[in-house]
Amino acid sequence: MRATHELTLPVPTPGTNVAFDVDRVRKDFPLLRQQVHGKPLVYLDNAATSQKPQVVIDTLTRYYAEENSNVHRGVHFLSERATEAHEAARANVRRFLNAADTREVIFVRGATEGINLVAQSYGRTHIKPGDEIIISWMEHHSNIVPWQMLCEDKGAVLRVIPINDDGEVLLDEYERLLTPRTKFVALVHVSNALGTINPVKQMIEMAHRQRVPVLLDGAQAVAHLPVDVQELDCDFYVFSGHKVLGPTGIGILYGKADFLERMPPYQGGGDMILSVTFEKTRYNTLPYKFEAGTPHIAGVVGLGAAIDYLQGIGLDRIAAYEQGLLAYGTDVLSAIPGLRLIGTARGKAGVLSFVLEGIHAHDIGTVLDQQGVAIRAGHHCAMPVMQRFGVPATARASLAFYNTRGELDALGRAIRKAIELFS
Ligand code: PMP
Repeated sequence: MRATHELTLPVPTPGTNVAFDVDRVRKDFPLLRQQVHGKPLVYLDNAATSQKPQVVIDTLTRYYAEENSNVHRGVHFLSERATEAHEAARANVRRFLNAADTREVIFVRGATEGINLVAQSYGRTHIKPGDEIIISWMEHHSNIVPWQMLCEDKGAVLRVIPINDDGEVLLDEYERLLTPRTKFVALVHVSNALGTINPVKQMIEMAHRQRVPVLLDGAQAVAHLPVDVQELDCDFYVFSGHKVLGPTGIGILYGKADFLERMPPYQGGGDMILSVTFEKTRYNTLPYKFEAGTPHIAGVVGLGAAIDYLQGIGLDRIAAYEQGLLAYGTDVLSAIPGLRLIGTARGKAGVLSFVLEGIHAHDIGTVLDQQGVAIRAGHHCAMPVMQRFGVPATARASLAFYNTRGELDALGRAIRKAIELFS
């Protein structure tokens, strides 16, 4: 059957001629200088977490050494300074995502908490028995389980968009799943297990034609592609600071103001209120309504510095450089006998997931570690996608703009060594 929905690929072409001084960039990342098991570290586990540039580390140190204080509360100098730094970072995130207003930028713990917030706050008030929520087959557990919990609670039904053998969503199947029963769509922007960049703009348009709101899980996208939430027209977007060169424990939920205004708070406590009596609490305005308790102030400030750093380089240049690396890495791995790449979508970010005939992914990971090469082995918190490809686990090398072709050669050599050892 002919597909009626053609994929429009939202990726830059491989940068053959990109002016990108990777040696200079690497100098900004102190951790990359170290040796592991007597070998130079080759860090290829960027989808799990990114390394941090010196400017982020310095910002955290300076914050604690010179600015530490609680925000939004004190009238004293330090509290005002910390509040300014905190809110300046919010303005940075707004620009980074091109959100229309800083009120639409909510600080949360990470992508996971952002999704749970929407599932609990929007979901619990809008989803009714028999309603349907659509996700894709390649979701991370954090974009499956919160919706499953909501469906169980509400008697709603989770529908899953199937994917093809390359790891691309089947848009015709998606179209078929979108019915008057559909009340929400939650999709991963870039898959952590396969690297697929989903045609999310097209998928959002399709959902909006039926007046269905869409949340995008951008955990693997924001460090690798320019993201413009107004251009995408998504209703919610989440990401984690630690995957975009920032600290752990901080993340972003973007939501369109008219949705957030109509949603009840997710947690109660300090800061999210205007007034409290035992009879009645009046909630604060956006974004504070969703930020109960003392926030991760250092994390917020560190994330602001990380975003500044990334934008200083430019996401367009990063994306183009990484596409070049991905093409090179794909060639290196494809030349290895017995290696099967899992995830060969036409639009891909820098994820190289693979299996080797007769060698378990964990054994590959261990042998590579001995060569100084850090990759991830396992189900990558995406068990359904492993089942879809009929494998228990994959080995996954995931790229960042500070990786080099030389490191991909080292990866190739280390994999050949693993094959030698296990044959
Ligand atoms: N979604 C995707 C696609 C991810 O890769 C991850 C992290 N591996 C998450 C969500 C969850 O991110 P966090 O654990 O930082 O909340």
